[in-house]
Amino acid sequence: MREYDVVVVGAGFAGMYMLHRARGIGLSVRVFEAGDGVGGTWYWNRYPGARCDVESMEYSYQFSDELQQEWEWTERYATQPEILTYANHVADRFDLRRDIQFDTRVLSATYDDSTGRWTIRTDNSSDGSTREPGEVSAQYLIMATGCLSSARIPDFAGLDSFEGETYHTGRWPHEGVDFGGKRVAVIGTGSSGIQSIPIIAEQARRLVVFQRTASYSVPAYNAPLAEEEKRKIKENYAAFRAQNSLMPTAIGSRLPVPEVSALEVDPEERERVYEERWEQGGLPFLGAFIDLLIDKKANDTAAEFVRAKIREIVNDPEVADRLTPTTVIGCKRLCVDTGYFATFNRDNVELVDVSSEPIAEITRHGLRVGNREFEFDCIVFATGFDAMTGALLSIDIRGRDGRTLQAAWAEGPRTYLGLNSVGFPNFFTISGPGSPSVLTNMIVSIEQHVNWITDCIAYLRENGHRRIEATLEAQDAWVDFVNMVADFTLFPSCNSWYLGANVPGKPRVFMPLLGFPTYAAKCDDVAAKGYEGFVLSKT
Ligand SMILES: Cc1cc2nc3c(=O)[nH]c(=O)nc-3n(C[C@H](O)[C@H](O)[C@H](O)COP(=O)(O)OP(=O)(O)OC[C@H]3O[C@@H](n4cnc5c(N)ncnc54)[C@H](O)[C@@H]3O)c2cc1C
Repeated sequence: MREYDVVVVGAGFAGMYMLHRARGIGLSVRVFEAGDGVGGTWYWNRYPGARCDVESMEYSYQFSDELQQEWEWTERYATQPEILTYANHVADRFDLRRDIQFDTRVLSATYDDSTGRWTIRTDNSSDGSTREPGEVSAQYLIMATGCLSSARIPDFAGLDSFEGETYHTGRWPHEGVDFGGKRVAVIGTGSSGIQSIPIIAEQARRLVVFQRTASYSVPAYNAPLAEEEKRKIKENYAAFRAQNSLMPTAIGSRLPVPEVSALEVDPEERERVYEERWEQGGLPFLGAFIDLLIDKKANDTAAEFVRAKIREIVNDPEVADRLTPTTVIGCKRLCVDTGYFATFNRDNVELVDVSSEPIAEITRHGLRVGNREFEFDCIVFATGFDAMTGALLSIDIRGRDGRTLQAAWAEGPRTYLGLNSVGFPNFFTISGPGSPSVLTNMIVSIEQHVNWITDCIAYLRENGHRRIEATLEAQDAWVDFVNMVADFTLFPSCNSWYLGANVPGKPRVFMPLLGFPTYAAKCDDVAAKGYEGFVLSKT
């Protein structure tokens, strides 16, 4: 069996950077990736309209100044093809591919307490020249499996009976899809639905959108990036990145930091601030006032502002009504769109509300809602992911004493710092549950985790330690802290994927942690104190 210092699972932005850093401290590394290329999210999500909603100049690596200086983003929000090209450029530039085994899914990983090593089994034991056998051993197992990588289609009755084409936005065919002249259903109106619907509507003969929950969305105002803007950021890129890292979500430092409550200003001033943020577009809308995600009354003012915008954009008041969310704004991930609401003014687009009467079944020629039958050539599932834990729990991971991760997390994920879980020594998760991850610019969070893990392994080696594992006390206290922060906010108040609410039977636990700067400081502090809250062992 081949032995490595480190096995990394996944070759998205997390796995790629982990490989680069681990190599940099002289470790032998093998990366396993289920897809046949790098890029993770941007390899799989090739649906029309897919793009980042964190601005391109921010949604990119900062670890190499040469890289960030030489790379030229073309739009305010980069398209999926451009981000994928960037990922491939990084792979080439840092010569990453030689240590990545593509087309290979990790099926299981088992910890052996007598050796302190993991045995990793993969589904691809092809003996092609660069391929490993299906079983390798590693001292450290690092999960870069992604928070939004386990694509999910709800368990609709009759799913297999449909004779037309079906697609999931998160598993889009590489050759693209031509909807020209076709009758298309899109099921789901989260971020992926909201990005793809306007473009599918332009191509399809007829588009019917099935909506369970209306989403809040703010305009992207995407546009080509001005040379002047790029130059200004690049002149001082490190400082720009540092400023962003001080923001709770690690984005948006160019906008004024809010200092007052939405309820402290008079209605005219409030309206002016919202209008200004709306005109700027994008996620920083939620940063208009300090308390939008904390105080329900404050939140109502922002929610009502967006609701009024929807009523203004959508011609048919009944359709506008159905598109208008009633929940807390920002409690589910805020969407960023280009022409989403206006799409429902088109003659070839229909909105079907399935909140009270769900889709009864998928049929041979379409689907049925109540006694209404729909016929389609294609069904697009924009139904999201088993977020944050889905990819991890689909691998049979067995830690000390053969205990599975599924059992350890049966009541919801339990981690220390989102980096390690009790019972799983020498095991790290990048942007795992209990870390800021999906509530931030994820590349910032990924780099912070990878840097921490790399420093940690270097420390263990320098000091002759062979194992590291969180203590139960530290983990319990951390889980309590994550819950306490969540309870202080409005996040637990709606059924979001942050809470696992989109997956039947999944424990309802708020998984990410709000507040990047405090989190990063805590991680630094833990390291400075000789990895406080972990047991390090030399045997
Ligand atoms: C449509 C979409 C838009 C997004 N936009 C933004 C944005 O604007 N800003 C932002 O911050 N974040 C965004 N995200 C979140 C995005 O997932 C992260 O920004 C980032 O790309 C995650 O990188 P990662 O390497 O952690 O995970 P991923 O990119 O998900 O990569 C994980 C990889 O692990 C592989 N893998 C999983 N399990 C196994 C296994 N068992 N064996 C082998 N390989 C495995 C997968 O195939 C995948 O390639 C978006 C997500 C989606 C889906």
